[in-house]
Amino acid sequence: MCDRLRVSYDAAMKLKTPAGKGRRDKERSAGFCPYCEREVDFCWICRCGFRMCQDCMLENAWGLTCNNITWVCPDCGEIRTY
Ligand SMILES: [Zn+2]
Ligand SMILES: [Zn+2]
Repeated sequence: MCDRLRVSYDAAMKLKTPAGKGRRDKERSAGFCPYCEREVDFCWICRCGFRMCQDCMLENAWGLTCNNITWVCPDCGEIRTY
């Protein structure tokens, strides 16, 4: 019963927030990637405000991570986990 309710709720939420229209609703991880200058659905975000999209993260992974468990923010040097 509950599952059913949740599914329709999710569907309703999706209808309410059409992709690509939303500067207004602040998705936690969505944003603008300054590296590829794209609006992306998902960003890695540091506390200092640094952000990088998944593509750029993969491209730069060799410089940001040495173990694929953590990455280091190039701005503030904080160690973040994936
Ligand atoms: Zn990017
Ligand atoms: Zn940072």
